[in-house]
Amino acid sequence: MVLARTNDSAVEAFCPKERLRFLYADVSATARRLAESHGCTEPASLLLGRVLAGAAIAGIDLVEPGERLVLSADLAGRAGGWLVELEGDGRLRGALHENAPDTLDPAPGTAPDDFCGPVATGKSTRLRADGEVRSQVAFQARPGTPETYFAELLSTMAPCRVALVATAYDGGPDRVRALALQLVHEGSRRAFKRVAKLFEDGTVADTLAYDATLPTMREVLGLDDLVTGPTRAIAFGCSCSEERVLASYADLSRPVLEGMLRPLRPREFRCHLCGRRYTITPEQIVRILQRKD
Ligand SMILES: [Zn+2]
Repeated sequence: MVLARTNDSAVEAFCPKERLRFLYADVSATARRLAESHGCTEPASLLLGRVLAGAAIAGIDLVEPGERLVLSADLAGRAGGWLVELEGDGRLRGALHENAPDTLDPAPGTAPDDFCGPVATGKSTRLRADGEVRSQVAFQARPGTPETYFAELLSTMAPCRVALVATAYDGGPDRVRALALQLVHEGSRRAFKRVAKLFEDGTVADTLAYDATLPTMREVLGLDDLVTGPTRAIAFGCSCSEERVLASYADLSRPVLEGMLRPLRPREFRCHLCGRRYTITPEQIVRILQRKD
């Protein structure tokens, strides 16, 4: 679990004696990049960061190129929800529905979780490279925080606990990490219970916020045989491109496209997942209309 802070990655760890499985991810660089491109306020950026960290562990077994995990949540709270995608090659992207929830109702000192509300309606979809749905899970998490969301999602496979942390520096996310504990087949329930307590009382989250090295985690978790598997690189990356944006315009109806030509000005298209802006010129729209003939 020794990771440089600029190297986003995910790794599995295993405790052979007690048969406990751990999933760890550091997505600090990706979280900073996305918080900036979306113009997130600090509390929103920390919330988005925890969601990105959770996505990196939820998709740890995603390995086929082109395979994609899409995680969404609708929240009752002011953050509105989130949409995050992880690809088989480790590319991660995503956004909150509302990047500046505190501007809607300024409340100094408000904790990020107040933006989430009492319930999250979640959906996890795993897609093959050809776009076919491989599996889909719909669920509810209470309260609607990233922690309960990912605990609920990962619990569909095995009993689990989840810790997500995002520390702040200079108005944005600094250290953004996730650790999940899973009880695998024939694992020690007693050991699981003991380590689960460290997740529940905040010990694990507090540790992740300053030091997530393997020796520290072994000591804090009281598991001296904890070993890590191969590290998987995670990096910001979006699948959007000008071609894809133009292709989405080509799907629009003729009256809608014609409406876009009044007034005759370039239009801006913003990718909702990564915040990248594209400029579509009236000439490009005219060409799309000509191709429709
Ligand atoms: Zn994009």
